[in-house]
Amino acid sequence: MKAKDVKIGLEIHIQLNTRSKLFCSCSAHWLERENTHICPICTGQPGAKPAGVNKKAIIQALKAAYLLHAEIKREVIFQRKHYFYPDLPSNYQRTSTPIATKGKIGQVTIEEMHIEEDPGRYHLKEGLVDYNRSGIPLIEIVTAPDISSPEEAKAFLTRLRDLLIYADIMREGQESVVRADVNVSIAGGERVEIKNVNSFSNVVEAIKSEIKRQENLLAQGLRVERETRHFDESSGATFRLRRKETADDYRYIPDPDILPLQICEEWIKQAKESVGEHPDIRLKKMVEKYGLAQQDAKRLMSEKELADAFEELAKKLPAEKSAHFLLTILRKQLNYRNLMFRQSGLSAKALSEALGLFLKGEISDDGLESIVITMLDEQKHDVERIVEEKHLLIIKDEKELETLVKQVIESERKAVADLKQGQDKALFYLVGKVMRLTHGRADPKKVGALIKQVIYHGEN
Ligand code: ZN
Ligand code: MN
Repeated sequence: MKAKDVKIGLEIHIQLNTRSKLFCSCSAHWLERENTHICPICTGQPGAKPAGVNKKAIIQALKAAYLLHAEIKREVIFQRKHYFYPDLPSNYQRTSTPIATKGKIGQVTIEEMHIEEDPGRYHLKEGLVDYNRSGIPLIEIVTAPDISSPEEAKAFLTRLRDLLIYADIMREGQESVVRADVNVSIAGGERVEIKNVNSFSNVVEAIKSEIKRQENLLAQGLRVERETRHFDESSGATFRLRRKETADDYRYIPDPDILPLQICEEWIKQAKESVGEHPDIRLKKMVEKYGLAQQDAKRLMSEKELADAFEELAKKLPAEKSAHFLLTILRKQLNYRNLMFRQSGLSAKALSEALGLFLKGEISDDGLESIVITMLDEQKHDVERIVEEKHLLIIKDEKELETLVKQVIESERKAVADLKQGQDKALFYLVGKVMRLTHGRADPKKVGALIKQVIYHGEN
């Protein structure tokens, strides 16, 4: 079976990064103690009506539409999609008509995108339900069957995720849940849908195993039936759930509690402005304007705010040095704290001041790193004050250094003797001792020269 005979379409659900839920003001941080972020609305109590639509969620969806180069619909209607499951207290899920259509990522067409509310979480084995997640805003992105291999699916999903993270659309970290329904068909067989695959990497695995299953059936002269299957993570295989349902089975009706939503020009403008220049274009500019390596430019483009900070630094300081600083010292400290740049509270102005001091030789690279650490851990942003409080200025006063060098030479008789006998290792050792006394605030080359000078020319 050649790859061109495989057709894959994806329906991807992504939780939007908002503070509150879609139709009530409950907190959207659902991964906290069970059933603590709930109210009559998101638990479907009798008489509870949705409190309007969360505007932030709509703006997030419009940002996604812009990133996907999609056409925005001016009117969106929320419908009720009926089914029974313990995680769905109202017995229907509110799901909108498309807010955008005809988008594109690379060669893959996005047929449409709509807004939905997430159901709660049902723990099947214990029979317990947590409604914290009930009502969290989602977007569902539906692609055309333009994908023809697991590798293409992976590339598509990676690009999608990068775009959504760049513009802070997707909920991050542990709370982030991505669920996809995957449609796979190969020439000569029916389309099979795999429901609720719960991560991007499992999507790729599910596709691989489903292609193999269908190929085997066809090779044996059997039929591939239209059906809905489930992907089992532990075995990496798919299993039949039911024969395929159709839209009619869900008895969609417009939700009488929610007015049709008019998408106004103002919201579209707001969404565009918050994303700024499209990242496809910006990436090219970053490479051309600043002479960055493609890979470095991409890493700076992981978040809009980080790319903004870079451009701010590059106004006054060399671009290459700025990129290097952000992608090494800063990245390391952020990763260590599991922080996104946008969550760090760091400002480009303070980072620029700190890097400026380092490039002028006023502080060492250790000093630069301790400024970053102090800013992150103590949320102090006055660089000058941090430098003073932590004594980070490099010792330029020769006399002060010489005093320390003499002190070390006094107490390290053996190393001095070794050095005199031509053992270079002893010099490193002595330099290390002096550096420790200065808390890294001296230039090691200068210290080495001073040690030799004192030993060979001075009376010691
Ligand atoms: Zn609620
Ligand atoms: Mn859906």
